[in-house]
Amino acid sequence: MPDIRRIEARHFMTPTRIAGYDFTCNPYVGCGHGCIYCYAKPFGDQPERPASWGSYVDIKRYPHFDIPKNTGSKSLFFSSATDSYQPLEGDERLTRAILDAIKESALRISILTKSALVVRDLDILKQMQSVEVGFSMSMCDEAASFFEPGASRPTERIAAIKTLKEAGIATHVFVAPILPGISDPLMIIDACAPYVDYMMFDTLNLKNPENKLAVFRHVLARRPDLLPLYKDIFEKGDKTWYHDLRSQIIDHARQRGVTIRYIYDRR
Ligand code: SF4
Repeated sequence: MPDIRRIEARHFMTPTRIAGYDFTCNPYVGCGHGCIYCYAKPFGDQPERPASWGSYVDIKRYPHFDIPKNTGSKSLFFSSATDSYQPLEGDERLTRAILDAIKESALRISILTKSALVVRDLDILKQMQSVEVGFSMSMCDEAASFFEPGASRPTERIAAIKTLKEAGIATHVFVAPILPGISDPLMIIDACAPYVDYMMFDTLNLKNPENKLAVFRHVLARRPDLLPLYKDIFEKGDKTWYHDLRSQIIDHARQRGVTIRYIYDRR
């Protein structure tokens, strides 16, 4: 159980500059999924709580769930700096309460999660005018147990996508971050192809030195044979491995009839 605090927040929707979205909703600060590579760490870092990422979470308390005026059919993203369906949500039901409050609005809701818990709220999702649920995953269950220890295992996420798709909800999979030699994007394409409207693909970003150290440590402990590859890519800037994979992904997705809405460029 993480170290929990309750904090006051003024509004559940905040404007964002994230491409494709107008607003975000982050009901929590911190994330019990505790992914080793998490990009949200800098937003949830709390120097006064020296415990490791994933071991503390703040739960926001909102005065109301009113939607700002003139939002119309603008887009609202759950979530940019946490996972709205992290384990605490099971008992807290805060994300559920927000979705329930806005289910009759014209907002275009987009949820991205690593948790099968989102299926619990299918009754609400089915009542919404515009909603899509995405799952991020890039590796097998065993690798995920080390790199994404608190999240639902990828096979559970795939089962959840199937359930959502069969219930008529729009779905997608974000294959990210792709960890060289550890992730298996082609396997994810095969497993998810029947249940997704589209897929997206992105590389691992290790510009944050703390994340780089954490990932390198894990690679050294689990797959020391991959360390030279990681040094080539993330220290020498050699992206040949990602370039080659990009072509394989595009070919494989085409063969499986999967629409790619985004794939990393040849950087
Ligand atoms: S699920 Fe997302 S927000 Fe949560 S720890 Fe993992 S990467 Fe970070």
